[in-house]
Amino acid sequence: MLTEITQLLKLQERDQRINHLQKDLKDIPVHQARAKSLLAGDLAAVEKATGRIREVELKIKSIELDIATRKTSIKRLQDQQFETRKNDEFQALGHEIQRYEKDVFSLEDKEIEQMEFLDEGKKALKAAQDKLAVTQARVNEELAQLEERVAGVNARLKELQAERAELAAPVDKASLELYTRLITRRGDAAVVPLEHGICGGCHMKIVTSTIQELRQSEHLCQCDSCGRILYLVE
Ligand SMILES: [Zn+2]
Repeated sequence: MLTEITQLLKLQERDQRINHLQKDLKDIPVHQARAKSLLAGDLAAVEKATGRIREVELKIKSIELDIATRKTSIKRLQDQQFETRKNDEFQALGHEIQRYEKDVFSLEDKEIEQMEFLDEGKKALKAAQDKLAVTQARVNEELAQLEERVAGVNARLKELQAERAELAAPVDKASLELYTRLITRRGDAAVVPLEHGICGGCHMKIVTSTIQELRQSEHLCQCDSCGRILYLVE
């Protein structure tokens, strides 16, 4: 095998690993976003439970206000009743007081009912908050792992790039240029085996004359179809 082929294969092995790691890095934000999106459902549940509590609290406040208003009216009517000397007026006031008292009872029942809703709401909020805390912990852990992966990949990339530079240094300039052009354009490989008359890159049949040339040649041969640099495997 040509020395250049051996050199380029080593270089290509590093480049492929570098490409792979760079792709890994590009995927990290996607993983981060996916991890964070796990929180959305739990956050919405907490928000809903909080809203429900606020709603019930407002209802209770409004009922309490209604009760207070009626109690003030009762007090006023009782004062009037105390002062009157007319029997029919006394009775009429008494009926009105009863009506307000019935109102107060019914409002108090409603308040008790709302208090129960409030208790349920608080339990639901606690459950939603607990669930959110569990998810948050999981997401935090996942994000921390991703951070670690980024650091690891970056360190490995630095090593590989140093190795690559060392391996590229002794390669013939024209060959290196051809290789670089091919690996950039093709992405996967620039140097491929020619096996059973087939190009290892594009899987097209290679003409006999090219195979002959490859056997005897002292320089790099390229596939007629895809242009990749070939080496013979027999
Ligand atoms: Zn090819």
